[in-house]
Amino acid sequence: MLNKRRNLVAGICLLILLLVSVTPALAGQYYINELLDGNPPHQVLKEGPVVRVIQPVVPKPVPSAREEKDEEVKKETPLRGKVALTFDDGPDTHNTSAILDILKAENVLATFFVVGEKVERYPAILKRIFNEGHLIANHSRTHADFSLLTNDEIVELELNPTSKAVESLTGYYPLIMRPPYGSLRQDSVIYLQEQSWRIVRWSLDTFDWDSTRNKPEQILSRIQSQHHNGAIILMHCNGPATVRVLPDVIKSLRDLGYEFVTVTQL
Ligand SMILES: [Zn+2]
Repeated sequence: MLNKRRNLVAGICLLILLLVSVTPALAGQYYINELLDGNPPHQVLKEGPVVRVIQPVVPKPVPSAREEKDEEVKKETPLRGKVALTFDDGPDTHNTSAILDILKAENVLATFFVVGEKVERYPAILKRIFNEGHLIANHSRTHADFSLLTNDEIVELELNPTSKAVESLTGYYPLIMRPPYGSLRQDSVIYLQEQSWRIVRWSLDTFDWDSTRNKPEQILSRIQSQHHNGAIILMHCNGPATVRVLPDVIKSLRDLGYEFVTVTQL
């Protein structure tokens, strides 16, 4: 009987001991140990019930001379603003692909104002423009002078067929347009805006389309003298001069502190 009572007391003591061993404080202690085991470099502090883990102080690596120079250049050229490179008259087979290669290598997004007849002729290039993230906009179907057309003709013969051709290839129906030659009557401006068209002209003409004044140094000098925040820069898909000068145009604008966006992101 006495033995039974002793056993009972011993059992109760054991039970109390077990209960004490899983108190939160001890559980916290295990947590610390796990942290120390798993992350030996961490310094663990215990403040009452709160366990705080402090990341070790990692000394900053000494920058190389090259990195220091890059940092200085960054400080000297704060972000000046945004510019949009725009390319008219594509797609074509050769130049548009070369332009896309350069934009991809430089990680630049641009806006392509495409001509409907060429979209129908070069669907694969149009798809590539879209798939690489550029904005596609409407530049008529036949490159007609819109000032010589009625408003209905502008929409029915030139704009709608082009945007429909783009939509059939990409699922995207552009409602952004630039009239060929920048030519548009005032009544057409109002008519198109009422129909939700956004009309985009340009603010900086590189003259890449004019063989009498499109040498790389001439184009770069225009960029240097006319750049501004929000610039819409006019270039073209259909001339080799554009492909030749484009890497330098991008570098020049980057050095001036600009980032490249599409016309809808300005
Ligand atoms: Zn054009």
